[in-house]
Amino acid sequence: MLDEGAGERALRAAGLRVTQPRLAVLGAVHAHAHATTDQLISAARTRLAPLSHQAVYDALRVLTDSGLVRRIQPQGSVARYEARVGDNHHHLVCRACGGITDVDCTVGAAPCLAPGHPADGAGFVVDEAEITFWGLCAACATAAAVTTGETAGTAPPQTTPLTAHPSPPERQTVD
Ligand SMILES: [Zn+2]
Ligand SMILES: [Zn+2]
Repeated sequence: MLDEGAGERALRAAGLRVTQPRLAVLGAVHAHAHATTDQLISAARTRLAPLSHQAVYDALRVLTDSGLVRRIQPQGSVARYEARVGDNHHHLVCRACGGITDVDCTVGAAPCLAPGHPADGAGFVVDEAEITFWGLCAACATAAAVTTGETAGTAPPQTTPLTAHPSPPERQTVD
């Protein structure tokens, strides 16, 4: 979580003018890793109510251009934004649910990977490799295993309550 003072210092250190929309959007990106623009509009509006879509787009562009925010866009996904910048981390992307998880730089320093032939001999100076690992997250892999592994399964899938305070189960004993 980014408090207002830290947000102001970050904007100034990046040479940016401190404005309320920029503070609200930067705070929202810090609070919601890999959020979409729509999610950030909602989150930023909880901090600054009269915030237009255009103001959020403008703030995201400025924050991304200045390096305070990183924009990623896995294939098939809308753009996502994150505040974890400059550490050359990579992403695990779930093909089933679209969930995105950070993973550290594989070898600990950019560019993390060396290109194969013929790029290694072409005089190309590589400074970054942006790696997306595709597959299934743990929950989706488990669900897939259950679906394919059970032929006569009758039990409903386990679901996690979405509410913070789920009501107690209303199960009746019948015997
Ligand atoms: Zn998944
Ligand atoms: Zn990330």
